[in-house]
Amino acid sequence: MQSRDLSAHTPYRAGEGIEEVARELGVDPDSLIKLSSNENPLGPSPAAVEAVHEAVEEIHTYPKTAHTDLMAAVAAEWNLEPRQVWLSPGGDGFLDYLGRAMLDPGDRVLVPDPAFAYYQMSARYHGGEVDRYSLDRETNFTQTPETLLSEYDGHRIVYVTSPHNPTGSEMSLADIERVAAATDDETVVLVDEAYGDFTATPSARQLFDERDDICVLRTFSKSHGLAGLRVGYGLVPDTWADAYDRINTPFAVNKLACRAGLAALEDHEHLDRTVETARWAREYMHEHLDAPTWESGGNFVLAAVGDGEAVAAATQRKGVIIRDCSSFGLSDCVRVTCGTRETTPLAVERINEVLAG
Ligand SMILES: *Cc1c(COP(=O)(O)O)cnc(C)c1O
Repeated sequence: MQSRDLSAHTPYRAGEGIEEVARELGVDPDSLIKLSSNENPLGPSPAAVEAVHEAVEEIHTYPKTAHTDLMAAVAAEWNLEPRQVWLSPGGDGFLDYLGRAMLDPGDRVLVPDPAFAYYQMSARYHGGEVDRYSLDRETNFTQTPETLLSEYDGHRIVYVTSPHNPTGSEMSLADIERVAAATDDETVVLVDEAYGDFTATPSARQLFDERDDICVLRTFSKSHGLAGLRVGYGLVPDTWADAYDRINTPFAVNKLACRAGLAALEDHEHLDRTVETARWAREYMHEHLDAPTWESGGNFVLAAVGDGEAVAAATQRKGVIIRDCSSFGLSDCVRVTCGTRETTPLAVERINEVLAG
């Protein structure tokens, strides 16, 4: 027996986990510094950890109240109705939900290039066809309405990542609004704000009062340190918010994740410390890495190092795991996640040793 023909779908390859690398190198995982997946170097919100401990005795029941409570808290945070919060298993889950809610077979979507790989994967699983608009190195990967609109041809979903992974570039609210205004009424602009907490640029949520063709992806994976629990959400306009109940996989966000998300949302101290550390680390890397870097609004920095794969491999042998960007089509670049005030300088030193050698 066979699955349906999936040969046109690209498999997702996650970066190696710290345990895998430790096993390969024959070292203790604690001796490694992992800066390859934009995870929170300070760990999870301590309040979230406590909430998980408390909730663990209740995992024999479905996450009904936990889901309702988190939806309500997120809605209050954004000054929206709870129905406008589509909780999902990670931000990736929201990409799937958007595909389910919006795509008919053969509908076209427009994704950036380079891009987060899951946009095109998810769109294709949901019957979509994928076109691309490029962010060019010559213009420092600047995101303008013109670059996007030059490829636009009535697409059903247009994806904007701001701050952009892996380049760090951003799109202003005014420019996002220009894209939404210039595209058809039946085109939805997805603004992926997975790194939204790390930038001073306001959220595209602000545009909801004027428009119903923009939605926003957010996640607890990065700034709140809950990547392992898989919880994120979409903010959607009121006019199509009720689609959620028709497309949501029942209880897809588990109880521990819901309880942790709720606690993390209220843990402003951890969030502030996370953001402050990331901003410091970005500047530190811009200043001290012996390679050209790009301005970043996220918790990572893209650096041009020559042979990205070789540099990432050599740096890994020195105990620092960074992301080789060839899968993004940037084979001369590496992406380095912001570490702590201790690990960032160490990582920079190791990378610089590799670059010097
Ligand atoms: C990390 C990330 C996401 C979502 O990740 P989840 O862990 O599924 O929440 C979405 N978009 C971009 C650009 C990301 O880097």
